[in-house]
Amino acid sequence: MMGTTHALAGAFLGAAIAVVAPEFAAVVVVAAVAGSVAPDLDIYHGHRRTLHYPVYGWVVAAPAVALAALVPSPGTVAVATFLAAAALHAGMDVFGGGLELRPWEGGSERAVYSHYHGAWLEPRRLVPYDGSLHDLGLAGVLAVVPAATLPEPIPAFVAAVLAVSVAYVALRKRLAAVWATVARALPAPVAPYVPERFYD
Ligand SMILES: [Zn+2]
Repeated sequence: MMGTTHALAGAFLGAAIAVVAPEFAAVVVVAAVAGSVAPDLDIYHGHRRTLHYPVYGWVVAAPAVALAALVPSPGTVAVATFLAAAALHAGMDVFGGGLELRPWEGGSERAVYSHYHGAWLEPRRLVPYDGSLHDLGLAGVLAVVPAATLPEPIPAFVAAVLAVSVAYVALRKRLAAVWATVARALPAPVAPYVPERFYD
């Protein structure tokens, strides 16, 4: 799924938690969006493995959520929300496409790595690939609740994220060609830092 879809999943999660804990709405939305995009910081090193924990993510998030419920404070609620959003991200990636330069070809059986299973989980492809129309549809659905229920600047943020999503979807297949060209043009010392799939 697109990073923007994950960001909107975070905004949705934040809006949902804000319903039950409105006094923490601001901190919850920031923590949820941050937690939702954070796992993809591993994009250039061990993508969907280094910072993606589809099982252990919940093992860590569950006690943090319990602590936040027992001792609600901006700090405990922020940590719990961040960890839950990061775990949700890793779980969502299972339902997307595989890890490859052209994921619409459906050639990869690696969706996200589970450190618990010691293996890659297979892509379910409910969202066939990141930047597909399904992905944009999901982003649009996730945007509705935060845009409708949270105060500014969240609706403006959601609209901007959706606009970026539309542009990404429109350019998705051309971008893959650009990335492959750039990867081949880079000098050898840089090569170890370029994700393997960019050399397809
Ligand atoms: Zn991811």
